Amino acid sequence: MTDASNLRPASTVSWLVETLRESILSGALPAHNVIRQDEIAEQHGVSRTPVREAIRLLEAEGLVISRPNRSAVVAPLDPEDAIEIFEIRAAMEALALRRSIPRFTEEHKEVAIQALEALEEVRHDASTEAHKAFHLALYAAAGSRLLRLISQHIDAAGRYLRVEATLAGTMDEDRYEHRSLLEAVLANDVPGATRLIERHLRSTGLEVAEVLRNKNPHRQDQRQMARLRINARTPS
Ligand SMILES: [Zn+2]
Repeated sequence: MTDASNLRPASTVSWLVETLRESILSGALPAHNVIRQDEIAEQHGVSRTPVREAIRLLEAEGLVISRPNRSAVVAPLDPEDAIEIFEIRAAMEALALRRSIPRFTEEHKEVAIQALEALEEVRHDASTEAHKAFHLALYAAAGSRLLRLISQHIDAAGRYLRVEATLAGTMDEDRYEHRSLLEAVLANDVPGATRLIERHLRSTGLEVAEVLRNKNPHRQDQRQMARLRINARTPS
């Protein structure tokens, strides 16, 4: 039987964590969205205990913020957090290239070339996985510990990459940067590849932060309120 109620609590918790994490990272549950324990429990046919535990784990990952009254909110997209995530990625992925390039085999090169082709062919709204697969293909020989850390941070950056995707011109820029990066890896050019990855990721973090600063909902609310006040005073 595959009845959800037959699962051990630990499995229910990890299943809930994965389901909620995916909804947050995909944007299905957007920033500031309220998550109520009883609603989640009812929707997923589980008791409140595993929901509470799942929310606690997601809070440790920085994806939700607990509130009183058994609810939580999806963590806001924060400009400083965006810069931090992409700086961490830049440092780790530069290290990965330094470790991976000297160990890169012909087979690794073939996989990386195919990963770039797949990324360039995919529809933009479905490119998250293809983008991740391309980056990871470049670090294939870096070691599993580092790959695991990078994979986690690429997932965490996913929410912010959706913000970057709203910017005009970034697709062409990204395409050019990915091609140059692959060329450097294929040429065993460690300094060139690390310079490119650092620029690729740091600039993304800065761009995302700028978009978020300009889109700050509080600032927009304040502006709208100010406009309403002005309109209210204007005699008709
Ligand atoms: Zn990239």
